[in-house]
Amino acid sequence: MSGEHASSPVAAQVRHVEALLEERGWLAPGEVDERIDAFAAGGSPAHGAAIVARAWTDPGYRERLLADGNAAIAELGYSMGGALQEQKLTVMANGPDEHHVVVCTLCSCYPIALLGPSPGWYKSEAYRSRVVRDPRGVLREFGVELPATTRITVWDASAESRYLVLPRRPDGTDGLGEEELAGLVTRKGLIGTALV
Ligand code: FE
Repeated sequence: MSGEHASSPVAAQVRHVEALLEERGWLAPGEVDERIDAFAAGGSPAHGAAIVARAWTDPGYRERLLADGNAAIAELGYSMGGALQEQKLTVMANGPDEHHVVVCTLCSCYPIALLGPSPGWYKSEAYRSRVVRDPRGVLREFGVELPATTRITVWDASAESRYLVLPRRPDGTDGLGEEELAGLVTRKGLIGTALV
């Protein structure tokens, strides 16, 4: 917690409770701050899903999204946020021969504005260290079994650069509208630890 009231007795009590919860493992360190940031940014996985659904239905938008993530999400009214300057967004499209997965090896950098607060596993030491060494094995643990011929690329996020995966549109969804398509897209799919 921070801000102009940080020295008030209530703020001190809140910090004390946070510290206790973190000590007991009921709250990940920094989780409260991150949720407040996400709330402030209005972040939600529904945003990422809406972007993907637009890209699936509008080839021109897909092209613009892959060329310049920040400009393309602005078309839909979204922005990346960032304290001093907007974080750079790169979007990578999965294909039949290529799969992308995102990590922050250093800490937990993540496109909060498009995905809401990051899941616990994303911040875990196990995921951060292992997905780089053995992406295929880690994906298998998430239930994603990729053909041996599929190339897997791991993207390491940082304070300045954030990544979003554009999953492949599932077969048999030709009749679906943009909103229904968005309903198929999961947070894991946008990180690359699920197919959609
Ligand atoms: Fe990080």
